[in-house]
Amino acid sequence: MAQLSFEFPDGSVKEFAAGVTTEDIAKSISISLAKKSVAGKVDGQTFGLTTPLQKGGKIEILTKDDAEGLTVLRATAAQLLKAVLADSFMDIRFGESASDEDGFFVDTDKQDRQVSADELDGLADKMNQLVKSDVKLERKVLSLEDALKQVDGDPYQAVLVRKFAKDDQVVFYQIGDYLSLGEGVVLPDAKPLKFFKLLSVAGAYWEGKSSNPMLQRIYATAFFKKDDLEADLKKRQEARERDHRVIGNQLDLFFVDPKVGAGLAYWMPNGATVRRVIERYIIDKEVNNGYQHVVTPVLMNLDVYKTSGHWAHYREDMFPPMDMGDGEELELRPMNCPSHIQIYNHHIRSYRDLPMRVAELGMMHRFEKSGALSGLQRVREMTLNDGHTFVAPDQIQEEFKKILHLMMDVYNDFDIKEYHFRLSYRDPKNTEKYFANDEMWNKSQSMLKGAMDELGLDYVEAEGEAAFYGPKLDVQTYTALGNEETLSTIQLDFMLPERFDLHYVGEDGKEHRPVMIHRGLVSTMERFVAYLIEQYKGAFPTWLAPKQVKIIPVSEEKHGDYARKLNEQLKAAGIRSEVDERAEKMGYLIRDAQTHKIPYTLVVGDEEVKNNNVSVRRYGQDDSNSESFEAFTDQIKADIANYSRE
Ligand code: ATP
Ligand code: ZN
Repeated sequence: MAQLSFEFPDGSVKEFAAGVTTEDIAKSISISLAKKSVAGKVDGQTFGLTTPLQKGGKIEILTKDDAEGLTVLRATAAQLLKAVLADSFMDIRFGESASDEDGFFVDTDKQDRQVSADELDGLADKMNQLVKSDVKLERKVLSLEDALKQVDGDPYQAVLVRKFAKDDQVVFYQIGDYLSLGEGVVLPDAKPLKFFKLLSVAGAYWEGKSSNPMLQRIYATAFFKKDDLEADLKKRQEARERDHRVIGNQLDLFFVDPKVGAGLAYWMPNGATVRRVIERYIIDKEVNNGYQHVVTPVLMNLDVYKTSGHWAHYREDMFPPMDMGDGEELELRPMNCPSHIQIYNHHIRSYRDLPMRVAELGMMHRFEKSGALSGLQRVREMTLNDGHTFVAPDQIQEEFKKILHLMMDVYNDFDIKEYHFRLSYRDPKNTEKYFANDEMWNKSQSMLKGAMDELGLDYVEAEGEAAFYGPKLDVQTYTALGNEETLSTIQLDFMLPERFDLHYVGEDGKEHRPVMIHRGLVSTMERFVAYLIEQYKGAFPTWLAPKQVKIIPVSEEKHGDYARKLNEQLKAAGIRSEVDERAEKMGYLIRDAQTHKIPYTLVVGDEEVKNNNVSVRRYGQDDSNSESFEAFTDQIKADIANYSRE
């Protein structure tokens, strides 16, 4: 019999007869390894534990401790779920199923009535019974023709069979009575599947295309250890509580509806209020820091983006141009830089004008992939807190520091404390993605690094993260779930001034080339609001809250007028207040104000009317405090003026 040679990660080499299985190989090393092993990987391709190997190569034995080992367990769980679904529902059809580091899913189509969330526990019980019955997943290889016969009547499976067919052969797993299409390597028996959870169901288009039928996706996860499952479920719960899409719905802040445009956000009055407060804050802050705020169009002649290099380097993120029929092509801008360059170029600039700081809440459009879209976090139409500073070369360092200080000042007001700096360079191995000028890259990269070193700030360096026109300093924050996210960015640019032939008249009366610094302080309004919602779990500090005060009269008849009088006074002081005039029980109205995370609920009854007092209940607290209306007003005004965390 032919001998196969396997090289192990430590460099040792062993020979085995063809047809050996990963399980045999693991056993030949040690019993403990064999116990832990879940699959084998030969030259990057994964094989089931009991699949006969016909080719040698570099081998790695995947164990329960590897992330990929978990994927195998989850693929096994997905197969079992299919088996119990097929057993429970006669006419069920299966779309794709898959497993990865997050969990696994199975797409289903029950033509009459879809699988509902209430049925998940029952299905999990059946899976457990299968596991207890010591069910095996017996690998069977069918010819393509037989495979197609096997899935006859299920149009989705027929497509998948063709997709998974290799050399006219298709792998299936026999699980009890059910013969299930193999969609990834699984365990030979289900015994290790003890800790799993069927999590939720949600619609998912067949093949991810909105023009295709909507299937029902069952989301689930599985672990080898009980503690790992529990920790994961806790994290998911936390994620749900903070998910800006869920909170956005609960608090009626915004919505995105693929039927009217994927990745296009509708800001409801509450969300628009939060956004307006941020926008006003930012504009005031920037104007006070020497920025000139402008307004420029979202559409621009495509030729400008050809000059800027966006069309050559950024086209896949841009919407297709609009042919206007008269030779003009208009483009939705993906960035505001070329627009601000027009502002700079509209007049002759002198050294006395520099640094010239142009800023805008600039709306832009990017053709993000539909799978990447996520609530307000990643959209296709966004408004960037953008700014471009035009400086003389010897002003770069000073201006860079000013921007950094402004940024930190803004972070302080929004109570953003955790962040780190990342210097992003071009990828030295893939330079064709970037503007070609080695000298410019070296100069600007070392200039940024020099500035950071001079300021004594810590940073990490990331190759391949630069913009196509220059290196940047990104400020990385963390979302509430611990994911890293870029909020602010400062980018040096020697290229665009060159391409648009920008100059200023120097002290010597001659023309000089300015340098451009692109900067965004709080990112796009969309991403920033998503970030804040998650950060605060929807309980915005008073200055940002869409509604700041809710006044509840104990009896509409007796205290309604007093409540309305206070409301008018608060509104006159610029506070977002309203009276709850609904004829509901007090307890209900108070709970409702809390559910809507309104910072202050004021209850007014006989005592309050008599003493010109209010009974104040702070969001999240169980008891209330009686105080004079005047003291309350002073307090809330101070909170708002100080951007207090309260
Ligand atoms: P990303 O890596 O997130 O795609 P980018 O590096 O392309 O962003 P820039 O061109 O620097 O981003 O855009 C400035 C800022 O705009 C980013 O830092 C990010 O916070 C925000 N932003 C970028 N794309 C989107 C989007 N699709 N939706 C919402 N905000 C976005
Ligand atoms: Zn720019």
